[in-house]
Amino acid sequence: MRLVIKYGGTSISTAKDIKTITKNLHSLSKKNQTIVVCSAMSGTTDDLIGISESIKKENKSKGEQLASKIINRHKQLAKQLIKKSDIQKKLLKKLDQDFTELLALIDGMVLLGEVTPRSMDYLISFGERLSIKLISSALNDLGKKSIPLTGKEAGIVTDSNFGESKPLMDTTRLRTSKVIDTLFSKKTIPVVGGFAGADQHGHVTTFGRGGSDYSATIIGSSIKADEIWLMSDVDGLMTADPKIVKNAKLIKEVSYVEAIEMALFGAKQIHPRTFEPLLTKKIPMKIRNSFNVKNEGTLVSSSPSKTVKNTVKCVSYVKNNGLIDIRGGSMVGNPGTAAKIFETLARAGINVMMISQNPSESSITIVVKNTDLDKATSSLEMELLGKIIKRLEVTTDVSIIALIGSGMRGTIGVASKVFTAIQKNKVNVSMITQGSSELNLAFVVKNSDANSAVRALHNAFTLDKIH
Ligand code: ASP
Ligand code: MG
Repeated sequence: MRLVIKYGGTSISTAKDIKTITKNLHSLSKKNQTIVVCSAMSGTTDDLIGISESIKKENKSKGEQLASKIINRHKQLAKQLIKKSDIQKKLLKKLDQDFTELLALIDGMVLLGEVTPRSMDYLISFGERLSIKLISSALNDLGKKSIPLTGKEAGIVTDSNFGESKPLMDTTRLRTSKVIDTLFSKKTIPVVGGFAGADQHGHVTTFGRGGSDYSATIIGSSIKADEIWLMSDVDGLMTADPKIVKNAKLIKEVSYVEAIEMALFGAKQIHPRTFEPLLTKKIPMKIRNSFNVKNEGTLVSSSPSKTVKNTVKCVSYVKNNGLIDIRGGSMVGNPGTAAKIFETLARAGINVMMISQNPSESSITIVVKNTDLDKATSSLEMELLGKIIKRLEVTTDVSIIALIGSGMRGTIGVASKVFTAIQKNKVNVSMITQGSSELNLAFVVKNSDANSAVRALHNAFTLDKIH
């Protein structure tokens, strides 16, 4: 099999963990053509973002402090991890080159006193540049041929939308398959850094936080992989967050569309674009635990087997949002009202998570993150209040609860079951949406009611009995 195996940051944070995963890779690569994609070690990307914050605040010493933290952590790990002295020496030398470049970049950014989207991407791509070298050397230490490649070196070409780039798939496919096939023919395991690629001018770009998942599927689709495995510290997708629901179960199979919904809402954060490259090629993906390889995890595919078609597969939530109820008499029967509202919000850079409008058209309700709430209300007030909008009513600290499962489509009685269960728990619902795809039924409650709503639904749909 051609296998793309992606490790999240929490799977590669200590020497012990890296040893565990490289041993697994060693045995997997005996029977399969294996390519590894990895994130930065957990916390590194946050520290790099911290450096950019301190540059913005002209706090050079804080930035340097964070850079030393990153440097020392990787150096120490290299020494703990690699036994063979020649391999260790080579690794430390390669890391040193990256450290020099990182410090020079920080100096440059400090001198300019600005953080542009382009320099930001260059800066935050360093986490993966460092982690791939550790993993690849650890494989060498076990006697395996392996080389580290940044996304750019692996041939991932993107547009120039720094911070949130998209791959140019045709070019990427050509370049990546060539690079990887050459390595496979030499029986060498490529260890590719996730999260980043480069635009057509060679400038480093990133896919946004959590983007290594996306890198894995971009590469998988480019090299016609048979399977893609996303390895992290959880067993797979669950029927609910096990922190809230004690008897939450692992979901064995879901479809791509369900997985997309679950990625947006779920406890297991997956980059929202991750599934895009898989849709046409229909490459199956497994979401698995790096440290519990006996467990098969969750299989994500285009056509899950019939036996697992439960009506509802999981109940998830997003806490800490704000709800804005937008009212105004002149909104009724007035085409373009919604367009104006959403245009205003878009210009302010606000991401709208949920929308509903009642058929009388006298109000539109939206949900945004709590952190976006002030910006959203002030931009609406400034541009539209007194014109098409008469009144804005804001509720903070609300949670979105979402039921996900393609079996809801055309099934009668789902909504009544949901709201009966909620009512029994005396939870007030302030907004409801269901897209016509019927994949996702979502509603809004107070933060303080979120846990009991999740538990009530998990019970009502007996999700602990899912198989
Ligand atoms: N290291 C990047 C981040 O923390 C990408 C990833 O982990 O997938 O967002
Ligand atoms: Mg991640």
